[in-house]
Amino acid sequence: MPWRPARRAKNGRRARDRPLRASGGALARLGRRDGRRPGHERRPRGWTQAVRGGRAGRPRRPAVGAPDGGQGAPGGASAAAGDDRWLGRRRGGVLACQRAARGRGSVVKAWIVTTSAAIGSLIDLAREVDPEPVALVLGAASVADAVARSGVGRVVWAETSGPVEAYRGAVASLVAEAGADLVLVPASDAERALAGGLAVALDAPLLTLPIGLKNGLMTHGVHGGIAERTVAVERAVLVADGGGLVDSGTSVVVERVVLASASGLEIVDSQPAPAASVDLGTSRRIVAVGRGVRAAEDLAVIGDLAARLGADVACSRPISGLGWLPHDRVIGLTGRRVAPELYVALGVSGQLQHVVGVRSSGVVVAVNTDAASPLFGEVDYGVVGDLYEIVPALIRALS
Ligand SMILES: Cc1cc2nc3c(=O)[nH]c(=O)nc-3n(C[C@H](O)[C@H](O)[C@H](O)COP(=O)(O)OP(=O)(O)OC[C@H]3O[C@@H](n4cnc5c(N)ncnc54)[C@H](O)[C@@H]3O)c2cc1C
Repeated sequence: MPWRPARRAKNGRRARDRPLRASGGALARLGRRDGRRPGHERRPRGWTQAVRGGRAGRPRRPAVGAPDGGQGAPGGASAAAGDDRWLGRRRGGVLACQRAARGRGSVVKAWIVTTSAAIGSLIDLAREVDPEPVALVLGAASVADAVARSGVGRVVWAETSGPVEAYRGAVASLVAEAGADLVLVPASDAERALAGGLAVALDAPLLTLPIGLKNGLMTHGVHGGIAERTVAVERAVLVADGGGLVDSGTSVVVERVVLASASGLEIVDSQPAPAASVDLGTSRRIVAVGRGVRAAEDLAVIGDLAARLGADVACSRPISGLGWLPHDRVIGLTGRRVAPELYVALGVSGQLQHVVGVRSSGVVVAVNTDAASPLFGEVDYGVVGDLYEIVPALIRALS
């Protein structure tokens, strides 16, 4: 797999490069002193390989040309609902982003598809390939008005109702007919779903965690951001943090289009989600529990330890899946990314999806019965032992 280690560093050093401070007794039983397990040697620095997008070994869908009758055209026409075909021009395997750089007389077109006006970062990203990106605003007119002041080249607005992903077919037709090479979508829950639908409809790769567009190549994070990959693609749907509101001081005209929803879904009720029980993103100390805990009742003693440490209780995803703790306590890829000064993991194996959420922590401590647990490759202090013995001992020591 083409990849290189991410530049993410902790205390100025790569976490896995730091020597373990554990020594003596149980702390010494961690295998290699450098914290890496056999077979997990460091990859060469700076090694990057560009790979082609698209699906090798599988014929691409044929181009079907432009839609008739101006369907989906911006400026008042409506886009064909539910048409999931890519309607754009074929480009013969040449990276679209490279065309401008190579002076082929063709320009790269970037479209931002958003329900929010907070798209400052997306505009910056789009401008790396297109000085005047187009923003397609789905939803409220007030959002379209705000986006019109953000410095984009053009604003197209469609009023929508219901799940935004239900408009994927109509949006795909619109951006394809406009010849968009790059479609940028903010990383909100609803828009992520739309982005997936767009990528399928456009037969384009879906890329996340963009780091940069340079010389026609796109570098983006993979595996939750712990590695970077550089890809060459004909076109792409890109999901990224939207960024903040921007007011450029000038405004462009908002062009209204009508898009049809292809979904059979109808919203019959909506309620605000229950307030989060804790904001782990601001926690200074965290005690996290994993499947090493055998029963929900055992969380009481974990809570006791956390209280003595002045820490918030967090968990791995399976613990939330069991209903033992709410989802806002989950750390990781689908949970929170945290940066406490102290992170104590009890019975957490340290799978990648969890570890990406704790990489910015200060001191990391793990208790696990398995000396080969991957989390021991990330820790400052590791205890090979049974949490049912270690936690009471810690509570006694702190009393
Ligand atoms: C798309 C996707 C997204 C995901 N997102 C997340 C995410 O955001 N966050 C997340 O956490 N997971 C996530 N997961 C799940 C993740 O892959 C792991 O399955 C999960 O993190 C494992 O949780 P765990 O460490 O609690 O359990 P396990 O992997 O089962 O580990 C339990 C550990 O406890 C140890 N243990 C057992 N008994 C004891 C004891 N008495 N004392 C001490 N140690 C003991 C074991 O040795 C083991 O290492 C995701 C998975 C997918 C596919």
